[in-house]
Amino acid sequence: MARLFPTLLDCLEKGELSVSILALLVPKLTEANYEVIMKGIEGRSKREAELFLSTVSFDGEIRAEAPKVEVKILCPQTVYEKLERAKDILAPEGQTWADVLDHALEAFLDKHDPLRKAERAQKRAEAAAHEKAEVQAEVAENTALMPAEEVPFDVEPVIPGDTIRSRYIPQDIRHAVYLRDGGRCTYVSPEGHRCLAKRFLEFDHRLPLAFGGEHCLENLRLLCRTHNSFYAGKMMGADFIRSKVLEARGDAQT
Ligand SMILES: [Zn+2]
Repeated sequence: MARLFPTLLDCLEKGELSVSILALLVPKLTEANYEVIMKGIEGRSKREAELFLSTVSFDGEIRAEAPKVEVKILCPQTVYEKLERAKDILAPEGQTWADVLDHALEAFLDKHDPLRKAERAQKRAEAAAHEKAEVQAEVAENTALMPAEEVPFDVEPVIPGDTIRSRYIPQDIRHAVYLRDGGRCTYVSPEGHRCLAKRFLEFDHRLPLAFGGEHCLENLRLLCRTHNSFYAGKMMGADFIRSKVLEARGDAQT
């Protein structure tokens, strides 16, 4: 193993290896896995290198298991007690902290992730459509056998009229927009790079409500807060936005 250090230091000097990646490597490296590891981490970020390293054995075998990263968190005692409590509840299912976190995060995401909610709503809608089609087929089959005057009712559901114009975007439309946009900002830069933001997403009306825009899939898109104000600035003019911001702050009256 000591024989490898001069080579590693050489890589460090040439800038082929960063100090942070070297720190990850040292406890893992053996003469047997040296080549596999050096090849595998070439050009990778620290996180990617860590994921790769977690799959390599001391013999240089690449194990067919899910790559892992180490997460260290310093948390208040109250949070730690909650973790312990969750582990108690999960026992014997949850043996490790990773199991506890996985369960807790699954429950959290099921409840709060807009993308998951949209996926569930889509599945429900598909199941409902399937059921409706089955009922219709059955009714059609039965009515075909009935004399015309005995056909009982119209199976078409009543669709409530879209009469009230409000700022509220209906849930099914929100879900459809979330799914289409993949829960990510849709802004694309002039160079063709799409914004990576998945946080602070807002529903943007391409044609604003004030100009007659509607709550429909075609007129809505997800934008992060930054790009939403960017488009708002374009649409309304920067002066308009500035006056709105001042108004909201209460500066307008002074
Ligand atoms: Zn964005």
